[in-house]
Amino acid sequence: MHRLTLAQIARGLAAKDFSSVELTEALLTRIGALDPQLNSFITVTADQARAQAQAADARRAAGESGALLGAPIAHKDLFCTKGVRTSCASKILDNFVAPYDATVVEKLAAAGCVSLGKLNMDEFAMGSANESSHYGPVKNPWNLECVPGGSSGGSAAAVAARLIPAATGTDTGGSIRQPAALTNLTGIKPTYGRVSRWGMIAYASSLDQGGPLARSAEDCALLLGAMAGFDPKDSTCVDQPVDDYLAALNRPLAGLRIGLPREYFGAGLDPRLSDAVMACVEELKKLGATIKEIGLPNMQHAIPAYYVIAPAEASSNLSRFDGVRFGYRCENPQNLEDLYKRSRGEGFGAEVKRRIMVGTYALSAGYYDAYYLKAQKIRRLIRSDFIAAFQEVDLILGPTTPNPAWKLGEKSSDPVAAYLEDIYTITANLAGIPGLSMPAGFVDGLPVGVQLLAPYFQEGRLLNVAHQYQQATDWHQRAPEGF
Ligand code: GLN
Repeated sequence: MHRLTLAQIARGLAAKDFSSVELTEALLTRIGALDPQLNSFITVTADQARAQAQAADARRAAGESGALLGAPIAHKDLFCTKGVRTSCASKILDNFVAPYDATVVEKLAAAGCVSLGKLNMDEFAMGSANESSHYGPVKNPWNLECVPGGSSGGSAAAVAARLIPAATGTDTGGSIRQPAALTNLTGIKPTYGRVSRWGMIAYASSLDQGGPLARSAEDCALLLGAMAGFDPKDSTCVDQPVDDYLAALNRPLAGLRIGLPREYFGAGLDPRLSDAVMACVEELKKLGATIKEIGLPNMQHAIPAYYVIAPAEASSNLSRFDGVRFGYRCENPQNLEDLYKRSRGEGFGAEVKRRIMVGTYALSAGYYDAYYLKAQKIRRLIRSDFIAAFQEVDLILGPTTPNPAWKLGEKSSDPVAAYLEDIYTITANLAGIPGLSMPAGFVDGLPVGVQLLAPYFQEGRLLNVAHQYQQATDWHQRAPEGF
């Protein structure tokens, strides 16, 4: 049963081949047996999952028929879940039990999804390797010595290892697409404002966006359809109807104009990944797409701009963790100042502290104009590059990452080396456009991802192209050995 996709599960549940309770039990057993190798879960909510599965089965018996009714999933541990620890993979929130559900959690529960627990991640979603978690690193099921990517590394590893069919993730600079690429999954970062951020613990509020990781574009369409939509509780959530993503899947690709940015194929890209991406392009041509070279001239400035803006917002967002209101508090504080200093000093990990310091510096009087304001100007130029490119093409295609998954520890002593892995993904967050990563081959037994980028609110186009590609290829169906 663990091999089934969400779409297959929906058919199986509708045909009464199995119940949600049976499926949930089977997956809980699998998580118990296999997750010790991966460390993808921070918390398994077995009792709650059983109760939700029973409720879903009862709703079906009473005549309800939603595609996700009874479908098992799990949430990245930065989505607040009522009554369940929401740790953000940080010591500072190790004891935090959220008093409410995030909108995404609420919407998926209303659709009938059964949550099996909370997934490991980089601390406060800061990272590309899932090595900065307070609960230890996550392993890549394709090679247990390699990282699964980050920051949604637990989501990626659990879905790739068939412990759950799909999961939620968040993407501030690539954290859905990059781990999807490194573990052979399909993951989509929606347009900024498409999915509510309410109850999603903030890293960099102007860049964060939630989305699904799954084993096919069809499954992402199912989940995104349930996650997306206006939420009056999030003032940046856009009041615009949600497209019918499932209906979009079947459009033929004839006439689709795809742009290949020359900046995405330059130095720094592993040539073997470049070959896999070009093979994907050939396949899409066979499906009717036309190809054009385009330019995104400001891409070279994206990493420095992102690593000013994201830490600046993080330094402000994370000021709420002070040891007073919730979360970790140091022992025997001598006075208020000592309480703040030691609670934060002991509660945050090294990468989070690094970002807070960089961000605070960039925002400080005297440096604000030189760093933060400059970065915002670059951000606008990057957005303009995309708007200009989308005058000429319908879709932009390139590699998701410059390299396949690397060995655990290999880049952990060199933060800049890890930051450079985000080169192809962070531009979409800076511009706010949607992006998707899909499986497109293997290098040394490790998955390669292709990234598709589309204009604002064209998630349907991304899912459509990925689905058509997945009808013609079987990369996405390959499973890691031993799982
Ligand atoms: N790797 C990037 C960072 O560390 C992106 C993380 C994310 O998207 N949450 O900031």
